[in-house]
Amino acid sequence: MIPETAAQVEPQAQVILSPEQNAEEQRWRQQLAQSLRTPKALLEQLQFDAQKIAEMSANDQGFGTLVPQAYANRMQPADPQDPLLLQVLPQADEGLSVPGFVTDPLAEAEFNPSPGVVHKYHGRALLVAAGHCAINCRYCFRRHYPYDEQQRSRSQWQASLAHLAEDMNLEEIILSGGDPLALTNNMLFALLDEIEALPQVQRLRIHSRLPVVLPARITSALCQRLASSRLQVVMVIHCNHAQEIDTDVEDACQQLQAAGVSLLNQSVLLDGINADSDSLIDLSKGLFNAGVLPYYLHLPDHVAGTQHFFVTREQGQKLHSKMQAQLPGYLVPRLVKEEPGMAHKTLII
Ligand SMILES: *Cc1c(COP(=O)(O)O)cnc(C)c1O
Ligand code: SF4
Repeated sequence: MIPETAAQVEPQAQVILSPEQNAEEQRWRQQLAQSLRTPKALLEQLQFDAQKIAEMSANDQGFGTLVPQAYANRMQPADPQDPLLLQVLPQADEGLSVPGFVTDPLAEAEFNPSPGVVHKYHGRALLVAAGHCAINCRYCFRRHYPYDEQQRSRSQWQASLAHLAEDMNLEEIILSGGDPLALTNNMLFALLDEIEALPQVQRLRIHSRLPVVLPARITSALCQRLASSRLQVVMVIHCNHAQEIDTDVEDACQQLQAAGVSLLNQSVLLDGINADSDSLIDLSKGLFNAGVLPYYLHLPDHVAGTQHFFVTREQGQKLHSKMQAQLPGYLVPRLVKEEPGMAHKTLII
C-alpha cells in the first residue's frame, strides 16, 4: 500500500484552531512524517551491530516498514526478541507461501456493497475511513487490502454514507481503515459531520492504533470535537503488549476519557509476542491502569505472510483459561475469531 499524504485528498470542513491547538496538530503530523521507514533505520536506532542489522533486514514483501519514533522509543535496545520490534520488523518468513494462508481470508471483498464499506453485521457498518496507517504491523490482516482502490475522498464518503442511510437499523458506524485517526482533523471532522447527519445512527466507534503508536494524535481539538458530538463515542484502541503502554499513552487515554469517550482494547494473539499467559495478564492490567477495558482477543487469521505469528485455537483457549483463572472477569477479553459468512464474530469458549 502506498501511504497517501492527507494533502493529496481534498481538505474539507474548515476547523478554526487556537495557536496552541495548531501547534499540537503540527506536532503529531510532524511525528508521523518523521517515522522510521526502513528496517536499517530502526535497527540502527536500537543499537544493533552492523552484522545483526544485515542479518535482520529482510525484504518487506511490498508492505513497507513504517514505525513512529514514539513507538520505537519503547523498544529495548539490541533485543531481537523485543515484542514491539517483532510487530513491525519485516521477517524473511513473510515471503513463504504456506498452504491455507491467503490474501483475503475474511472474504471481505464479498461484503463490499459500495467502495469503502464493509456491511456484514446487523446494526453496524464499517467504513474504511483512511487508506493508510501510522504504523505497519507485520501481522496485519489487511496487509493485502486494496486500499488504493478504496481511497477516500469526500465524494466517496458521501456515496458510502448515502448507501448506509437507507438502512434504518443502522445504529453504529465504525470507522476503520487504514486508521481513521491518520486522517487530518479537517478530513475526520468533515466525515463526522456527515455521520451525525444520519438520524438513525446513535454510536460512533473509532478503531485506531494511534492512541498507542502516536499518542500525540490525541489533541485537544480532537477531544473537543468528540466531546461535542451528539453521538456516543467508543474508541477501540489496538494494543498487543503491556510494554506498548507508556505515560504518553496513559495521558492520551485520560484525555479521551475526559472527553466522554468509552475506551476498549482489541488485541491479536501473536506467537512470539503475547502468546503467553504472563504477557496477556500484564496487558489487561496495563490497559486497566490506562482506563481501557479489554474487549476482544482475536485468534489470528490465515493471512498470507503472517504464518510465523500463528496461534492455534487450542493454544488460544488454554491461554484464555489461564487469564480467567487469574483475573477478574472484566479484565478478561472475549476470545474471538472472525469467520467468513457469520453474522457476528465467533466466540471461542
Ligand atoms: C468486527 C467487525 C464489526 C464489529 O463487530 P463487534 O462485534 O460489534 O465489535 C463490524 N463490522 C465488521 C466488518 C467487523 O469486522
Ligand atoms: S494499525 Fe491496524 S490496520 Fe494498520 S497496519 Fe496495524 S494492524 Fe493493520
